[in-house]
Amino acid sequence: MRNVLITGASRGIGAETARLFAQNGDRVWLNCCRSLQKAEALRQELCASGAAAEVIQADVSDPEAVRRMFRTIEEQCGGADVLVNNAGIAQTKLFTDITDEDWRRMLDTDLSSVFYCCREALPSMIRRKYGRIINVSSMWGQVGGSCEVHYSAAKAGVIGLTKALATEEGLSGITVNCVAPGVIRTEMTAMLSEDDMAALRDETPTGTLGTPFDVARAILFLAEDSSSFITGQVLGVNGGFVV
Ligand code: NAP
Repeated sequence: MRNVLITGASRGIGAETARLFAQNGDRVWLNCCRSLQKAEALRQELCASGAAAEVIQADVSDPEAVRRMFRTIEEQCGGADVLVNNAGIAQTKLFTDITDEDWRRMLDTDLSSVFYCCREALPSMIRRKYGRIINVSSMWGQVGGSCEVHYSAAKAGVIGLTKALATEEGLSGITVNCVAPGVIRTEMTAMLSEDDMAALRDETPTGTLGTPFDVARAILFLAEDSSSFITGQVLGVNGGFVV
């Protein structure tokens, strides 16, 4: 049974990803920061259907908290076989309104967290010559989103980190890939008005918005053993919004 750590698994894309890995027979480690009750409810749901699931609370923007989280996983099961760096925040602001604090918080949560988690996950993956790392970027990291410069910069950084790390770890049996979702209905996009969502839907070639399931399916695919020749790639899950 593989051990799969999913950051930001209390809701949205992370929670749906946890469901798919659990159905796949993996043991899932549900990381959350503030939404402990939601993560616990998900754990109970998964365990009730016969899956193995644990909750692990840590603020992934804090390197010390990340270190503790990985120490716990290592003590209990020898380390994560699969790491899904999904936790993230978004913020819509004019560039000129972005404060130092906004910038730092965005970069710490959406980019540095990926560095911290990969850094802690890799030693045991390298020892075992096996690992799957899937980072969750965004199509705005590929093309840049107006009024989301700090978010776009962080998500573009995730793509750069993914590509570089993939080349470094190729011989270690570890693949590093990322998914770049388009507009997905979750609490993150609940801040947008229905008019904005309709406009984004109309701009999407499939004429639909994405679901957490769409993204979770792509993550699971990249984590499969049979995906071992796919590394350093950015898989768009965006209905053709960015091609
Ligand atoms: P969401 O529903 O807002 O969920 C975000 C998750 O991240 C929550 O589980 C939250 O946990 C966790 N999180 C936030 N800060 C954290 C921290 N410091 N430490 C640990 N966990 C933290 O968002 P979502 O839509 O599912 O987004 C998931 C990922 O997909 C994000 O990286 C996002 O940027 C990316 N994405 C989303 C979309 C979209 O349209 N929804 C599009 C492109 C990319 P707590 O509540 O426990 O803090």
